[in-house]
Amino acid sequence: MGKRRSSKLLAGLLLAVLAAVCLVAPAAAQGSPPVDAVPADLVLLAAPQGEGGLQSDAAIISPRPPSAAALPAPPQSYIVQTGDTLSAIAGRQKLDAATLAALNGIANSDQVQAGQTLRLPGQAARPSALPPGGPLARVQFWPWPPKQGQTLVVWLRAAAALSPTVSFAGQAYPVLGGDRQGYALLPVPGLLPPGPQALIVAAGGQTVTLSIPVVAGVFEFGQVPAEVSDPILGQTTRVQAEADRLAAIWAGNSSLPWTPHLRFRSPLDVPAQHTAPFGSRRTYGADPTIVEHTGEDLSVAAGTPVLAPAGGRVVLADLLFERGNAVVLDHGHGVFTCYWHMRAIDVKVGDTVSTGQKLGEVGSTGLSTGPHLHWEMHVNGVAVDPLQWLEAPK
Ligand SMILES: [Zn+2]
Repeated sequence: MGKRRSSKLLAGLLLAVLAAVCLVAPAAAQGSPPVDAVPADLVLLAAPQGEGGLQSDAAIISPRPPSAAALPAPPQSYIVQTGDTLSAIAGRQKLDAATLAALNGIANSDQVQAGQTLRLPGQAARPSALPPGGPLARVQFWPWPPKQGQTLVVWLRAAAALSPTVSFAGQAYPVLGGDRQGYALLPVPGLLPPGPQALIVAAGGQTVTLSIPVVAGVFEFGQVPAEVSDPILGQTTRVQAEADRLAAIWAGNSSLPWTPHLRFRSPLDVPAQHTAPFGSRRTYGADPTIVEHTGEDLSVAAGTPVLAPAGGRVVLADLLFERGNAVVLDHGHGVFTCYWHMRAIDVKVGDTVSTGQKLGEVGSTGLSTGPHLHWEMHVNGVAVDPLQWLEAPK
């Protein structure tokens, strides 16, 4: 194979397998991440007097349900004022400048002019109603609009017993529930470009396509020195074998009872510094490839107990080359949580664990520069932000 292909393959390999590597981030990144205001949900009805009832379902399903005190919709556009700069506007809207520029097709950020109308993320192709006479009576989304790295929950109610199926951003996902109503957990990849993505619901021989405006998350950026990463990441065969082993686990979809009637709890009983948040971008050594950090790094003292955030079954408990002492829990229906770099493991494959049960102890095994728990969550094969699933992120 040619050199170009080799380098492309190498870049792909790095993207695929480095994503989970954890390091304790520099002091500048320490401190708890900002907790977002409660996001809104969105309900679509086939008719003004459409069927209700899914709110009560929503109230008992993780991740966190729609709030009765949902915030008003964010502003949809902004008119550039004299003296404005793109970065200043982006900062006030809690966006990064590159996202705002991309959303408005602006190649040169110096080109914004007073009087110009800028599109903001909330404006992207918001669906307002379901097609009348179609197969769906009601659709509810939470959160709305979804951000990169979140789990988008979609509740569906069909007009008749139609067993709907769902695809989002080109991937099919299972619908849990009965013939007439159910819900799907749609992972929004952290590296999925912001902008409209198609949600296609098929039911009763018909399809309904809705445009979902994926909003850019705000992610910090870091660089990992080569002397830290290369000794492990240079061994590409071992790194790839580990990634393949984990990907096979995350592709599972067991019928375990899961915990639809409970929020997840924190895996730690003590306050932790969030030293590398989920979704932060990083590069390793001299390689310019931007990699997503696919978990949340929680820095606490070595030996701190690591606790199951919800009931599940242990599907991996092993010393891994890159991730150190590792445990993966299967919570059922494509929901997995993962615990890397521990100094000790207290469970074994096949164990059934309950909420709060000790899984092991925080350590610094594998590719890690200090004691911390890398907590990772996968939903239907995609890494998502685990903090969204907590009762109260901390
Ligand atoms: Zn990490």
